[in-house]
Amino acid sequence: MPELPEVETIRRDLAPLVTGRRIGRVTVAPATAPLLLGGVDAATFAGQLVGRTITDAGRRGKYLLFALDDGMTWVVHLRMTGRLVWHEAAAPNEPIERFERARVELSGGHELRWCDVRKFGTWLLTPDVTAYLAAKLGPEPIDPAFTVAQFRRALAGRAAPVKSVLLDQRRVAGLGNIYVDEALYQAGVNPSQTAGGLGPAATQRLFVAAREVLERAIANRGASFKDYVDGMGNQGTQHMFVQVFRRTGQPCYACGTVIERTVIGGRATHFCPRCQKLSKSRQPRHDSHRA
Ligand SMILES: [Zn+2]
Repeated sequence: MPELPEVETIRRDLAPLVTGRRIGRVTVAPATAPLLLGGVDAATFAGQLVGRTITDAGRRGKYLLFALDDGMTWVVHLRMTGRLVWHEAAAPNEPIERFERARVELSGGHELRWCDVRKFGTWLLTPDVTAYLAAKLGPEPIDPAFTVAQFRRALAGRAAPVKSVLLDQRRVAGLGNIYVDEALYQAGVNPSQTAGGLGPAATQRLFVAAREVLERAIANRGASFKDYVDGMGNQGTQHMFVQVFRRTGQPCYACGTVIERTVIGGRATHFCPRCQKLSKSRQPRHDSHRA
């Protein structure tokens, strides 16, 4: 599933290409429309997009945000297998790609094609994207303004495993299964550790690790374990550089211990039992003095 680095890679690819372009025809396959558009009628949705000019391509968490010249924002979430790829306009009798479910034609002879094997992806239009996302997303971990104090508050008092808390988009935005496992490994934190029981040193290490892991993955253009491709339809390379994710049974690069797999909150979790020892259990701290 695409996480922050994958979505950010797509954003960076598409931003200079789509900004300033006017939206022409919008086509959504009838079988796709109810899920993709959340019950909004395809013709109504298309009617709101057609004729608008894209003024910016942003991102929050795993959401792509295309600002339009009428103040609306076209919000795209790729979920499991969604792809949004830049193409030359299709030739008149060019066959439709397998799993292509929607298409947005743009001025200048180009188009965005939406392919989605599993059909969990979503599109919506909102006049107030800030309000729409406010309840869904915590702070952006790669935002230079994000502080360790904010991160500590996201974990404080939580009795759940740190792995589960980091996956909760309302705590910190954009992290998913790959990069949580990678960040916990880099920080030497056991994924089962109670989030609220993390000491200050471990919290600081995890804060730094999360940011570094995400920045590195962006530099490597995301991880293409399966479906993910960038805004041009090419695979990323980060999957070749993972330290623990899906390395079950292979030796840890740091200590040689066999990487183990467990399940936390229903999610496959990969870790080194030696580098990520479970620290002696602490009670979750209910911080009264919140910085
Ligand atoms: Zn190790």
